[in-house]
Parts: sequence; C-alpha cells; structure tokens
Amino acid sequence: MEKTPVETQPDSVHVLVIDDEPSIREGSRRILKRIDFRVSTAENGTDGLELLDADRAALVLLDMKMPGMDGMEVLQRIRELDDRILIVVVTGFATLETAIDAMKLGAYDFIPKPFEPAQLRMVANRARDRILLMAETEKLARDRQRTLADLDTEKSRIRTIVESLPSGTVVTNTRGHVVLMNPSFLRAFSLPEKVPRGAPISEYVSDKGLCDLILQISRGEHIDFDDIPVYEFAVGSDRYLMARARPVLGERMECLGAVVSIDDITTMKVIDRLKSEFVAKVSHELRSPLSTIHEQLAVVLAEQQKDQGASDQQLLARAKEKTHSLIALIGDLLDLSRIEEGSLCHELKPVSLQRLLGDIVNFLEVRAKAKKQTLTLELPNEELPEISADPLALESIFGNLIANAINYTAEGGDIRVTLAQAGSNVRAQIIDTGFGIEPRHQDRIFERFYRVKDENTRFITGTGLGLPIVKELVTSLGGLIELQSELGNGSTFTVLLPTSK
Ligand code: ADP
Repeated sequence: MEKTPVETQPDSVHVLVIDDEPSIREGSRRILKRIDFRVSTAENGTDGLELLDADRAALVLLDMKMPGMDGMEVLQRIRELDDRILIVVVTGFATLETAIDAMKLGAYDFIPKPFEPAQLRMVANRARDRILLMAETEKLARDRQRTLADLDTEKSRIRTIVESLPSGTVVTNTRGHVVLMNPSFLRAFSLPEKVPRGAPISEYVSDKGLCDLILQISRGEHIDFDDIPVYEFAVGSDRYLMARARPVLGERMECLGAVVSIDDITTMKVIDRLKSEFVAKVSHELRSPLSTIHEQLAVVLAEQQKDQGASDQQLLARAKEKTHSLIALIGDLLDLSRIEEGSLCHELKPVSLQRLLGDIVNFLEVRAKAKKQTLTLELPNEELPEISADPLALESIFGNLIANAINYTAEGGDIRVTLAQAGSNVRAQIIDTGFGIEPRHQDRIFERFYRVKDENTRFITGTGLGLPIVKELVTSLGGLIELQSELGNGSTFTVLLPTSK
C-alpha cells in the first residue's frame, strides 16, 4: 500500500503528544510550538491512535504509563500503523527498564520524567533532524525511481522506433561486433528472426566491401562524416542494396561504434538501367541517319559552291554545323551509356601517359593555332610508370580537358599541359589563361548538361557532357580530378591517376 509521505517542511514537523497528565501535554505543546513544531495532543492511547490515523504525525511523544491502553501496546500499534513515525517514550526514572524495552520494540529515543524544557527541546530537535533526513532520503529515492522509470520508457520507445524503421538498421561496437539489428535488416540479408546478436558483422553479411567499411567506421577511422562513401552492392543476381554508415560518437567525440542503414535500391537500379538502355538505343538509332545527312550536306555544299546564291550556302552551312553538334551530343551520350554499363573501361592495359598526351596535343595543336594560342606539353625527364587503363578512356579524359582549355581561352592565350610523378600517382595538369570559372559554377560544371552562360561563352557550342564524362572516367580509374580557377585569370584542371604497380 502507498504510504502517505511524512511531513517534510522544516517549520511544520507534526508532533503528537500522548500523555494523561494535562500539565505535561500543555507544557510540551508550549515548548514545542516555540521551536516551530505543529503540535497535537491526546490524553490516552486510543485517542492518540485515532488522531494518528486521521492526521499522520512524524513524531510521537508517548507516555508509557497511562490508564487504559498500556504505553507498550500503543507503541506497537503505532509501529504497525507506520514504522516511519519516530516515537520518543516518556518514562519515570524508576521505569528505565521500560524505556529499554521500548527501544527494543523500535522507539527512537526516550526522555525521563520529570524533564526540563531544555531536555525536551534537545530530544525533539534531534528527532526532527532525523525526520528531515529520512524525508530527504525518501525524496531522493523517489526521484531516482522516477528517472529510472523515465529512462526505461525512453529506452523502450527508442527500441520500438528502431524496430519499426523501414530501413534495415544495424549497430556495431568498436570491434565491429553487432549490438543491435532491426527486423528490416534481418529481412534484407535473409537472416532468421532469432539469430543471436554479438558476433562480428562478417557473420551476418557476406559482402566483404561492406564488412570492411563497417569495420573501418567502427574503429573510428572515419570521424569526418563527409568522407564516408555510400556503398552499393548486389545481393544475388537481381537485388541491389545501398548502405549508409556513420560513426556513433560519444560526448567527447570518441567513436563508440557504427550505425548502418540499408535500403533496397533495386527499383532505382532497374529504372536507371532502362533509362541508360533507352538513351543508348535512341542515340544509336539517331547517329547513322544524322551522319548520312551530314555527309550529304557536305557533298551538296561542295558541289554547288559556285552555282548557289550566298544565302542558300549560308543556310546549308548552318544546317551542316547543327548536324555536327548533334553528332557530337550523340557521341557524348553513347560514351556516358558505355561508362554506365562499364564497357568503356573494360580493356585495361598498361598505357604510357607521356606518349598518349603527346599524341593528343599534336592532334589538337591545329585548333589552338587557329585561335593563335600556344599549346605546350611539359614532360618530366625520366620515364613515368605506366597506367593501367583503357586507352580510349584516357583519350576521352585528356581530349575533353585540352579541347575545353582551347575553347574557353580567348585568342592568343596560353595552354600548358604538364605531367609529373606524385607519390604512387601520376599528376597531369591542364593550365590555361582563359576565361576562368566563378566559384559558384565550379562544382556544377561536373553535372550533366551544365554549362556556364555568360558573355565569354555565349557563342561557344557544347553539350555540357564533357566534364561529367571526364569525372566518371577518372573516378572509375581510381583517380581524382580537381579544379582551381579564378574568373578572368584562367583555370587549372588537375588529374591524379594511380600508376600500375
Ligand atoms: P561543354 O564544353 O560541352 O559545354 P563541359 O562539361 O566540357 O561541357 O564543360 C561544362 C562547362 O564548364 C562549359 O560550358 C564551360 O562553361 C566550363 N568550362 C569547362 N572547361 C573550362 C575551362 N578550361 N575554362 C573555363 N570554363 C570551362
């Protein structure tokens, strides 16, 4: 049964004086009131118990020798009613043994009769200190109970949320052992519902790349969130999953483990593949008729150069130019589809970048000359290690970058292509003195179809697909591309490619 809390206000500790002598009752009342007790009195045990039942006192001053119910019995009854009530027994000197017996039965203290006011004050104050201390302890215990209950509710609420998340979720500790898995995670990896937790992540997940990533994050090797890659992988032949993992950080930013969410991206993958197939098919179908039109226009233009009026010639020349841009666009789209299906980087062989860049620079020199630009290639004296890549991919990367440098540099500008060893990588830079690119466009020019439109570039035709192709190819070769540019001061594209060991 819930117990009524004993009064706790320091100025209002409730004391009940049970004594058959009116002078003791009244005397005690006066003394105790003066030291801020709230005082009730009763002239016998029965009345006292009744009063206690109705209005619980924290302290009882109990005379042991009263007519009617015996003091010892009253003491026992009070203890049964509420064992937190402090009882100070009042006995004559002659009955000191009674006091000892009472103490054995749970009385807190005793005071011999007759007593001085100072004696009563001392005993009462001591009892009050004890009562306040008990109340404080009880309050702390109640608070602690409440906090624990709150924590428990919070914990079960969080558990319910994690359990109902539609994304698969797994949490590991710093050793990469599984601490928590939700049902969606079990389903994603076809694990039985009752699979025991606590084993290393590799016991539950067979994909080695994912296990390695989770281990790295669990060990705290990725405290910077931005450098954590999204990991895509296939399960069986027709399901694709995407994992996003983050470290779980403690208050002092120390790594406590990893939390990983898994989403099924099969539908996205299928749509993406259908889109790529569609683009590839349409591009393929368009390319041959367009090329035919282009060729025919060229023939007509050549044959009728003298006979036709100037305006007709101009019309035909523009039509030829347009077909040329369309063919370039289709070429880019086909390149992109090939990169996506992975066929552009299939033919890996050792390639000497020195020779390849030499060829490209030779080929594009005509274009630079037409714009009165200098195009120079600066090679290191020693032979650089070769790169393991598809030569077509490398041609596409550097052809695009050098052509861009020529296109986006005014007449008379300079373009330098440099090559050097950088640790286990080869670093190529294409440096121009061209228009430069404002910071707000610098990331975006690597997006598909993004072109900067300003006074300088207005009349330059292009597809906006060159740099996305370059970026995808560089990434697929395990390399990196960086841009430094300042509007009006030219641009430097730096490509880092790993050398073949
Ligand atoms: P495209 O050249 O066909 O427009 P890209 O993807 O190759 O497509 O380039 C995207 C845009 O980036 C270009 O339209 C141009 O505005 C800008 N850009 C690329 N290279 C340079 C460069 N070297 N200098 C200045 N701007 C450039």
